[in-house]
Amino acid sequence: MHVPAPPSASSDPADLSFRERRLLGRLVLPGGALAVALPLWLHAASPYLGTFDQAALPVLLVLLVLLSALSWTRLPLTWTETALVAVLNGFVVLRLGALLADSTLEAGTRAALLSTTLPWTVVALMLNAWVFPGMAALRLNFMVLCGQVLCMLAWWPQGAGPAPLYLMTTLIQLVLATLAVLSAQLVATRHTSLVTRLARQAMADAHTDVLTGLPNRRALMLALEGLAGPLTMDGPRLVAALVDVDHFKRINDDHGHPRGDEVLRALAVQLRGHQPSGGLVGRYGGEEFLCLLCLPDETAALEFCERLRSRVSREPLAGLPITVSVGVAVMGAPVHGPTLLDAADEALYQAKRAGRNRVHLAAPVAERYERQRTPVPVKT
Ligand code: GH3
Ligand code: MG
Ligand code: MG
Repeated sequence: MHVPAPPSASSDPADLSFRERRLLGRLVLPGGALAVALPLWLHAASPYLGTFDQAALPVLLVLLVLLSALSWTRLPLTWTETALVAVLNGFVVLRLGALLADSTLEAGTRAALLSTTLPWTVVALMLNAWVFPGMAALRLNFMVLCGQVLCMLAWWPQGAGPAPLYLMTTLIQLVLATLAVLSAQLVATRHTSLVTRLARQAMADAHTDVLTGLPNRRALMLALEGLAGPLTMDGPRLVAALVDVDHFKRINDDHGHPRGDEVLRALAVQLRGHQPSGGLVGRYGGEEFLCLLCLPDETAALEFCERLRSRVSREPLAGLPITVSVGVAVMGAPVHGPTLLDAADEALYQAKRAGRNRVHLAAPVAERYERQRTPVPVKT
């Protein structure tokens, strides 16, 4: 029997953005630091910054440089991201508040200073959308919008003249820019959730047998890796039990293929009912099923398989009396999947040869593995 190499265990297919996020952090942070350093440098040449900016921009610069350096360390990505959005949102809110609360500013100057908050606001909103998961980011940015609308209403300029009009326009622009980011975010979130759902569905389909709904061979191979990985030398052992319907071809020949399908579905239900906790049963191919589980020793493995076999033989499936033969192999850490499955397959063959409707235990699998690995001496 050829045992295919198991596909590499991948994480959630929806989470594809990790590398891009790290890259973005490494680009955005120095970019942000540069954007803060430029006005400070200009101000040093010819002072033009307001009181708030003179105090806040150096702090922001230090934080961005620090985060920029941290983005190259092994610090978890979420830490630097969360710190970045906290710093930026804090800066935007404080700057907005400081400008609006400063009663010494006349409307025109306030508007001019407020308008320079606009790019920072957009960057902060976009980073919120990037860093937080879909709905959380939408809620956060919606709260920002509400805050801005409240500010706009509270500071709605009284009186006529170009300066109040200028302030009004700036406040409206701020709200509109936030609305634009929110709309884009809404579309992106809907799109992402659709793609995520499709990707998860495709992943589930790729690991499920269509006829029985059980995990398919691909899923079994991954499960084998997953179960074998944590095993220790003195811990439980991995059991592979290959369950094959006896004389299944006859069922197809005598009762038709659809009835054969019904039998396989009914057997799948029964095997699922017999599934041990922490183990897995799946369709290995055709009328063959594979149970993977961890048990202390061969005796426990034989007992498990015997219970399974006798249960199948007692209850008719899809109205037909069915029996199964079981080939079982047991291997302790380090488990070599292909050797274990080959041994189970050979044991199944022995069970068939011995008359079917029985369980056969494979010879010790570790020794078999060692034998396979030992090179045959070359005669000289
Ligand atoms: P043995 O006791 O030696 O296992 O004999 P068997 O007849 O069960 O084994 P054999 O390998 O000769 O035949 C297996 C049959 O299973 C042949 C194939 O047509 C049938 N089969 C494989 N997959 C399906 C399926 O999805 N549905 C149905 N109805 N039949 C299937
Ligand atoms: Mg068979
Ligand atoms: Mg078979």
